[in-house]
Amino acid sequence: MNLFTPIEKLPRVGPQTQKKMQRLGIKTVRDLIFHFPNRYEDFSNITPISKAGVGETVCIKGKVLEIKTIRTWKRRMFITQAVIEDETGAIKVTWFNQPYLTKTLKKGEPVYLAGKITPGKGKNSSYLSNPVYEKMGPEAGLIHTGRLVPIYPETRGLSSRMLRWLLLPVLTELKKDTTETLPDNIISEFKLFPLGRSLWQIHFPDSIQMVERARERISFEELFYISLFVLRERRRLAKESAIPISMNLPLIQRFVKSLSFKLTDAQRKSAWQILKDIEKPRPMNRLLEGDVGSGKTVVAMMAALNAIKAGYQVAFMAPTEILAKQHFESVAKLLNPFNLDIGLLTGKEDKFKSKKLKNDVIEVSRMKLVDKSKKGEINLLIGTHALIQDTVKFKNLALVILDEQHRFGVEQRAKLCQQSKNTSRLIPHLLSMTATPIPRTLALTIYGDLDLSLIDELPKNRKKIITEIVDPKERKKAYDFAKQQVKTGRKIFVICPRIEEREITESEEALGLIEVKAVKKEYEKLSKEIFPDLKVGMLHGKMTTKEKERTMKTFRNDHARKERFDILVSTSVVEVGIDVPDATVMLIEGADRFGLAQLHQLRGRVGRSDYQSYCFLFTESPSKKTRQRLKALITAENGFELAEKDLAIRGPGEFSGTKQWGVPDIAMASLKDIALVEKTRNAAKELLEENPGLKKYPALLARLKEFNQRIHLE
Ligand code: ADP
Ligand code: MG
Repeated sequence: MNLFTPIEKLPRVGPQTQKKMQRLGIKTVRDLIFHFPNRYEDFSNITPISKAGVGETVCIKGKVLEIKTIRTWKRRMFITQAVIEDETGAIKVTWFNQPYLTKTLKKGEPVYLAGKITPGKGKNSSYLSNPVYEKMGPEAGLIHTGRLVPIYPETRGLSSRMLRWLLLPVLTELKKDTTETLPDNIISEFKLFPLGRSLWQIHFPDSIQMVERARERISFEELFYISLFVLRERRRLAKESAIPISMNLPLIQRFVKSLSFKLTDAQRKSAWQILKDIEKPRPMNRLLEGDVGSGKTVVAMMAALNAIKAGYQVAFMAPTEILAKQHFESVAKLLNPFNLDIGLLTGKEDKFKSKKLKNDVIEVSRMKLVDKSKKGEINLLIGTHALIQDTVKFKNLALVILDEQHRFGVEQRAKLCQQSKNTSRLIPHLLSMTATPIPRTLALTIYGDLDLSLIDELPKNRKKIITEIVDPKERKKAYDFAKQQVKTGRKIFVICPRIEEREITESEEALGLIEVKAVKKEYEKLSKEIFPDLKVGMLHGKMTTKEKERTMKTFRNDHARKERFDILVSTSVVEVGIDVPDATVMLIEGADRFGLAQLHQLRGRVGRSDYQSYCFLFTESPSKKTRQRLKALITAENGFELAEKDLAIRGPGEFSGTKQWGVPDIAMASLKDIALVEKTRNAAKELLEENPGLKKYPALLARLKEFNQRIHLE
């Protein structure tokens, strides 16, 4: 057995258990070992039976005096009753529906029990109800009682007790050879706790202090590997070749002049950095980071135009169809003076706009579009993930732009590279864009292989969005205000979170049905009761592309027909990028259910013109903490502050991309720790400088390879 042994090979894991373990994401021995407890139950003190008070949760050690199981016919239940005795006294014990216990716990045998003392009917009739039981094992010691007991994230039919039982033999066997993969000098320099002991202590700790040491040790290792991986990627990329494209200054000036607004200084600076970077014969790997509405698209389009006029193709990928579609329309307008051939490829609907057709937009078949791209008859291909399907080819792709997704850009570029046949050994430059600010610790670790350009100011015409937390009783006021706004020609967004009134089945979750239900309910309420005389539309992820598009169009009101929506009720699908300049009110239901960064994104859907805009956060939660958290949206100056707060409150899982790293939660949690982050990064850097190929460290290389696979499989 080693770390990569599949769990089904373990003697204690049958097909049923395997299925349940997979639900927890446990596929290998390593996954099992890295399925860490989220808390511990302290049963380390043994209470004498005579001292066990009613209502207390205790652990006792005694001998079975008597035990029997009876069956209650009325309630069809098995009740096992026992009496346990120690030197100080005796106590009754009751278990429900565990009749096999009569066979497990035999009269006269010693046993440990941990549970709550429940008051009985009469005097002195208190009993231990459904306690955890454990017989003294021959050598392994106690794992369910009499110690700090680990409690794990569970799934139906797979309890913490089962997990402990599965883990114990694995840990025991691995104990002999949990080989360190970190170089010895790093272990000694940072006085790291041995890995094998850390793993043991995190599952079956001797004390809480030991848990802390173990966590620190494991976090160090994980952060170290993240840094090492990222720094190596960076070095690897620096060795690759890309097409150098020189900056065409007159062209850029012409473009800037054609705009209906003046670029901000931050936009100019970012554009300059990007254009300069692309002049190098090395692939650019740059993240353009700017708050919602800071105008990232036009900056990216400057680089695109520059590459296209130098004779190359550009791909522009967005995370959703709505967004890809919107980019196609706005970019077509933006670049109209430059007579380009622009395609839209979403997988469901494909369009083409060509100078030959006097810049009319026509619908074309997907095949035709793909063919044009292959022949180089398309300058700019905009689309969703459909762009990285194998059928799509380019003639001379030089720049890839990814909107609203950061870390995984490298993978997508790799995919696009393969599709760009003629440039065989040349890699396209990559520009990713995001409005999610990246806290410093993450910028150093997970995003450490990216260069950053920052748009840190908003266009001058923007007014600060007035944000308010609305009490349930003030709802009407907010609705009246919205009505007023509609009267002056403005538009309203209403966002609903998913309602979790009951347990959601897996299939419902997968289908996104719950969100749809919430939106439909809200739509009914708003269109019939609250705003009967206004036009209300509805948008959710389960609508077809055509429906979504028609809804957005009607809301944006940019077709000639009279049809219009004043209000759009939606799920958070509108979260990223959607641009409706005359929308001025954002109403968010159940605001407490969203992360701060997400709320900030949602709020960014309004305030995109010079009208004063408003964001109302509805919350039913009376908790002070919730209010405090939401208040951050009112006080914080920018998305950065909010991202730092989100990181502090909710952990890095909130940042898209970080979940996929498959890094254990405790290491993720330690991503907040700047000192540790810097320490591990420096250690990784030094190691790479000393031995760039890492050939001296085969164990470390193997681990890195595995890490590599884990990340690249996403
Ligand atoms: P984001 O950075 O959120 O992607 P966009 O690129 O969608 O923002 O730009 C938001 C809006 O602001 C667009 O309508 C765009 O035309 C406009 N815009 C961009 N730059 C400026 C500027 N310097 N002055 C005024 N409006 C601008
Ligand atoms: Mg955008």
